[in-house]
Amino acid sequence: MDKKTQSPSHVLIFPFPAQGHVNSMLKLTELLLSNGLNVTFLISANDHNRLSSYTTVHSRFSVYPGFKFHIINGLYEGPMNTGENLSLMIEDSLPKVATPLLRNLLLDTHVTCLIADGIMGFALDAAQGTGVPVLFFRTISACAFWAYFCIPELIESGELPFEGTNMDEPILNVKGMEGFLRRRDLPFLSNQALQQVTSITRRTPEAHALILNTFDDLESPILSQIQKHCFSIYTIGPLHAQLKARSLSKSTSSNSLFQEDKTCIGWLDQQVPKSVLYVSFGSITTLTRDQLIEFWHGLVNSGKPFLWVIRDDLVLNTDKNKVPSELEEGTKERGYIVGWAPQEAVLAHPSVCAFLTHNGWNSTLESIVEGIPMVSWSFFADQQVNSRFVEAVWKLGLDMKDTCDRKIVENIVREVMEVRKMEFAESALRMANLAKKSVNEGGSSYSNLNRLIEDIKMMDVRSEDS
Ligand code: UDP
Repeated sequence: MDKKTQSPSHVLIFPFPAQGHVNSMLKLTELLLSNGLNVTFLISANDHNRLSSYTTVHSRFSVYPGFKFHIINGLYEGPMNTGENLSLMIEDSLPKVATPLLRNLLLDTHVTCLIADGIMGFALDAAQGTGVPVLFFRTISACAFWAYFCIPELIESGELPFEGTNMDEPILNVKGMEGFLRRRDLPFLSNQALQQVTSITRRTPEAHALILNTFDDLESPILSQIQKHCFSIYTIGPLHAQLKARSLSKSTSSNSLFQEDKTCIGWLDQQVPKSVLYVSFGSITTLTRDQLIEFWHGLVNSGKPFLWVIRDDLVLNTDKNKVPSELEEGTKERGYIVGWAPQEAVLAHPSVCAFLTHNGWNSTLESIVEGIPMVSWSFFADQQVNSRFVEAVWKLGLDMKDTCDRKIVENIVREVMEVRKMEFAESALRMANLAKKSVNEGGSSYSNLNRLIEDIKMMDVRSEDS
């Protein structure tokens, strides 16, 4: 055995530069490091600066001498709230800047494998001929992944593009979702971005394996469909729960790219148990001012205490119009607004009853783990599919989908937090227990992570033999 097989396996991890992607891939990184693997984490300069400013990531990771950040300069740093902006990042900025860099790293360093965000197809091209296996980590749900994968079948069968304007028309050619998927639940982006994400998704079988941040009890029928195309799948989620289950410390490892306002925990401490609606739309979603005001009226009129995350850049074209006085009054009485919350801690707080969410996949999983029912208002992409599953398949809440009229917001919040409170609390608790079971010893995600780690270690041995 030479030096190569004696030294720990070295994994390059490369997420798409956005909050949800960086967060879940850093959780995976911590799990690999704590199991004796070395990791180099590729990160944009902007995200690195923000992580350094707002988290303890450097001190947390300093206990692992085999960890380092590799900082990438020169990437697009604008908003990613439209398909056009996403396209720019996926097709232009990232491949141009990162392909040569990645290739050099793969050729010049000892790398056991590359775990690349599955939305970055160029990673496969960069690794071509280097002999380094590429594993795709897809940070979305299996159901959203599968919906993207099936877009060509929808085009072939004539279901796409739509004829007519009825968005409630059922979609028949996404296997496993017949009977509940409607046009309005498809993962919409701009046409160009949808084509790009679809064609990258279709390249997944070229990767050595597919890693998903989900668990079998949540998505097994859809996972069986994906398995027909991608033979090697590791379902290892919910990763944040797996990290907690395996850590000695039960505290949360924050990977926030925004400054957390922890005063909201003090506010939650003063509220009645199971009384508060937590409202957050993640890191990318934007609202028009009209939408903001509709949500606000709905929240105030629902009569429920609410904790609302309003990021500095949540509202488009903010003008300085005064907020109507009844909203200010209602918020003073029952509301609390922060720019960014310690979300995992908020969802785990005993005062929280329900989550009004855009159904980004991290938020959805975080809600599931804490047994918090959801009110869904999806913004774009995978969130549309997730929110349909929340209501129609998992029965974990109600989906407002694409409207946020104040009356609808008020009624749906009351429905989830009052009228059907017990029903949703029970189904959410059932799913939370399954999620926790999956990441504890003997559970499916626990065993799959062990298998992934062993398989990575074996890659070194194999490359040594060949
Ligand atoms: N998040 C947070 N504080 C907030 C809002 C969001 O810590 O005030 C975290 C949340 O816990 C999740 C991530 O940001 O881990 C958002 O990822 P998600 O996939 O839900 O949505 P995205 O931001 O990608 O749309």
